[in-house]
Amino acid sequence: MGTFIHLCLMKDENHLNSKPTSYQEFANDNCHRLTDIQDNFKAIYSIDDYENWYYTQASEILRLYSDDKEIFFKYIPVGTYSKDSNTWLWAWSNKDSVEPRKLKTIKVKELGEQIGYEKLTTNHFEGDEYIGWELTSITFHQLGGIGTYRVVSDHLEKYFILTNEISKTEVEKIESNLIECESHGLMRTAFICQHLNNSNKTGFEEAFESHKGMELEEDVDFQALCDECEVQRPKTDGWNDESMNFAKIKLVCEGCYFVIKEFNVNTIHKA
Ligand SMILES: [Zn+2]
Ligand SMILES: [Zn+2]
Repeated sequence: MGTFIHLCLMKDENHLNSKPTSYQEFANDNCHRLTDIQDNFKAIYSIDDYENWYYTQASEILRLYSDDKEIFFKYIPVGTYSKDSNTWLWAWSNKDSVEPRKLKTIKVKELGEQIGYEKLTTNHFEGDEYIGWELTSITFHQLGGIGTYRVVSDHLEKYFILTNEISKTEVEKIESNLIECESHGLMRTAFICQHLNNSNKTGFEEAFESHKGMELEEDVDFQALCDECEVQRPKTDGWNDESMNFAKIKLVCEGCYFVIKEFNVNTIHKA
């Protein structure tokens, strides 16, 4: 079940090392500035009328729905809070995430470096139950958007900045470019030669240096060849029937692509 509570409490600042403007003052100010925007957002979209939520990382789409209605938003992930370990993990450092816009949150890290707030610059740290809303408020004012949202599953809270509403037709168009992988769910596509796998090292030659969840231009896909294919292709001066036939390029999901990449790249350096 989704929850939607805007939780920004004024905390006692006597506990904090005082700075000209302490982190806590800064966070409270950001929270308060978000409150009106958030109330307005909830009213405009009747957010509280939706009982369920579902999100797709690869398309960064949040769907809110009830039996008789649904609404879709594009989102930017801010980070996650684990209630098990009481720790916050910034989206930019979440290696498991395939959300293409997660690195937008680097802007907050840069701000933190300028003004010296460790909570804005540390990838993963212990924090209290308010940290998620504090950091989401700060991020909202840096990146802009129409509102914020939080979903809770098991012990994990995940925070979003919603950038715009999107129609069902647009959602279908975006998601028609994704593939459904048995292991990874709905994901972006990637292209690899038939020889690449995660049981035998074959080398991993990429069209461009990649990382999981990176933002790609339209019409650009993750692509990789084994060493042998990389040798074959220039021999034939680019692709021809022979090299195409040798490579037999296949489609995999982004998740599988990075499993294979990690296997091939990391084992190279081992004894
Ligand atoms: Zn190959
Ligand atoms: Zn996969």
